[in-house]
Amino acid sequence: MTRRKSQRVITGIPGSPGIAIGTAYVERPIDIDPLTRSIAPEDAEAEVGRFQAAVDASKRQLEVIRDRVADLHVPEPRLILDTHLLILEDEMLIGETASTIRRETIAAEVALRATMDKVRAAFESITDDYFRERVNDVDQVAERILRNLSGHVDGASLAERAQGHVIVHHDLTPADTALLRRGMVMGFVTDTGGKTSHTVIMARSLEIPAVVGATSATADIDEGAMVILDGAAGVVIVDPDESTLEDYRRRKAVFEERERRLRAGAQKPAFTRDGVRVHLHANLELPQEAELAVACGADGIGMFRTEFLFMNRRDLPTEDEQYAAYRTVVEAMGGRPATIRTLDIGGDKLLSPADRPSEANPALGLRAIRYCLKEPALFRTQLRAILRAAQHGPVRILVPLVSGVEELRLTKAEIETARQSLAAEGFTAPAVEVGVMIEVPGAALVADLLAREADFFSLGTNDLIQYSLAIDRGNEEVAYLYEPMHPAMLRLLKMVLDAAAVAGRRVNLCGEMGGEAQYLPVLLGLGLREISMHAAQIPRMKRWLSAIDIDTSKKIAAKALTLATAKEVRDYVSSAAASFEPPTTLDGI
Ligand code: PEP
Ligand code: MG
Repeated sequence: MTRRKSQRVITGIPGSPGIAIGTAYVERPIDIDPLTRSIAPEDAEAEVGRFQAAVDASKRQLEVIRDRVADLHVPEPRLILDTHLLILEDEMLIGETASTIRRETIAAEVALRATMDKVRAAFESITDDYFRERVNDVDQVAERILRNLSGHVDGASLAERAQGHVIVHHDLTPADTALLRRGMVMGFVTDTGGKTSHTVIMARSLEIPAVVGATSATADIDEGAMVILDGAAGVVIVDPDESTLEDYRRRKAVFEERERRLRAGAQKPAFTRDGVRVHLHANLELPQEAELAVACGADGIGMFRTEFLFMNRRDLPTEDEQYAAYRTVVEAMGGRPATIRTLDIGGDKLLSPADRPSEANPALGLRAIRYCLKEPALFRTQLRAILRAAQHGPVRILVPLVSGVEELRLTKAEIETARQSLAAEGFTAPAVEVGVMIEVPGAALVADLLAREADFFSLGTNDLIQYSLAIDRGNEEVAYLYEPMHPAMLRLLKMVLDAAAVAGRRVNLCGEMGGEAQYLPVLLGLGLREISMHAAQIPRMKRWLSAIDIDTSKKIAAKALTLATAKEVRDYVSSAAASFEPPTTLDGI
């Protein structure tokens, strides 16, 4: 393919901040079709040989990957690869395809597809959800064989294949993203996705620059093209000219130096300009990030998304494994509170083997606390692990997707059961606070009732926006409607903060908007005093806080509440915030 050489800009949605400059590793769904469908009978044996060679190549590739992932912090990719290697020996897949090539004298690709149709039909009749869904593994193995048949060779995991490059991908799952590492890949751009999708959240945690929802990135960017990815601006510049490159090299250096200096100065507690203490906590996706939270001056962990411990594996983490992970976090925080959110799977976060059959509306389906209450054994295992970790420092339990008081009561009963089972083994668990995520509009509407029985609230604005405004948070087509400053959102936030204030309950906000300085004055003005965000955002937000005063913030919130449209509120709030902007230069940087 001839390379398009002139500089062009692809605009997407800002995902994770940071600048990446490098060459593109493009992965698009490939269309694999044999040149001919039928073959001459005398060529059948050679065709079977070609098929077997592709199977053998697949085997060698999977063995190499399995060895490479052996020391990952999540051991389970190795187990998946073992399963895939076993599938490569399966008579129904391999033997049946070879027989079809001979019997029907057709190309290996066509025969393999015919076999896959039969395999899928067989899996569909399985009643057990878990086993039925394993057909996906067979699909992935067949896809690899097809790639080898067509000469598309990829012998490693995505992170390894794309090592040293900027990934250009149609759609990365949160689980794919969890395996990426800063320094290993430079950044990524995807065709799909929204600003608060879990893929983006994971990228921010790992501090990997990302642009999502760029629609045509895989179509417009050639493999190996030079790209500049600006995660904060949501743009990708392809085949940049020399002066643009020079400009972005400088911006990248400035960004990194500024982050380093901000971090170095972030250890002091945060106060507004008029001396009101505001607690800034870190959101955590992986236990190892607790150290980053401390380095960035977090007052505690505001939300540990434990579901990432359950991803990229075949089995469920045991109680001891979970206990070790929670303990790591609690100990790293050195006496500062660690809020551990109970398993929030479903929606865009799917796991194995806890995966459920496909649901028509996963975001409205068996997600989060609903799932846990339906799987008491799994839930109690997690609760026991959390209660055990609480002996090492202050722990709070946070319950996701609560829609009303009943779910809170049921959860408390489960916590009590877990506590008693530990007591029966001679372990007395310390007291832990139990709070609820306010992320379902129904919960916000009954916040006064919840406040009587919950120790604290955490505003999950990512979902609260999704559910209140009926906008799929991962869908780039409706991303333009995803608006934290919608008047409906302001009213809901006010309702929750007021109800909590009456009951004397603390309120944290842990959605992505909490890390955006433009919203700080209005949130403070509504009464918020605790915010949880990606650790890396804390130093910058502390600087902003020190420039804002509460009196003015209250006036800004009062005025914002009178405005009629999201655009009016957004324009007003961001210009009001800009008047507080602390100097962006730090000693000339
Ligand atoms: C939220 O919904 O705002 C939230 C913090 O939870 P998650 O993003 O994990 O759904
Ligand atoms: Mg949520």
